[in-house]
Amino acid sequence: MRINISRLLQEPWGSLRKYDLDEGPLLLGDDLKVDFLRGTLRLMHTNEGILVQGRLTTQVELECVRCLEPFTYQLSFRLAERFLPASAAALDEDSFPISDDNSVDLDEPIRETILLDLPMHAVCHPDCRGLCPQCGQNLNLGQCDCQKEEIDPRLAILKQLL
Ligand SMILES: [Zn+2]
Ligand SMILES: [Zn+2]
Repeated sequence: MRINISRLLQEPWGSLRKYDLDEGPLLLGDDLKVDFLRGTLRLMHTNEGILVQGRLTTQVELECVRCLEPFTYQLSFRLAERFLPASAAALDEDSFPISDDNSVDLDEPIRETILLDLPMHAVCHPDCRGLCPQCGQNLNLGQCDCQKEEIDPRLAILKQLL
């Protein structure tokens, strides 16, 4: 997603542009597919370049770490990125370069921000019961027969006491 900033760069420092986004589905980089990207961005001309700020909402498909089923996950995140002329950006790790055609490419900063905000251990539902460790049955879809056959020996003793 590129936004042309030729006009904004000619305006005085502090000048603002507002962009309402409603895009998608999109592929960010070559590994992050999002169903949509919505929200409002503000681009400001600063003394060093362009400051992009805003809050966006997106939806991605993740795999549940417990039951391994895909599920959709929505998240809202804040974007705050500095775009500098290429020569200055090369010396500043926390910035992105303004393209030669006077545009800013938001794909990479948005991709990095989303990847940082995604949960490490995503579950489809807080109560997801996962897979049976013995037969692999998805326990959200129903109980398997394993538990009847394999009773923990410690539990077996307890049962005798009851
Ligand atoms: Zn699950
Ligand atoms: Zn089982």
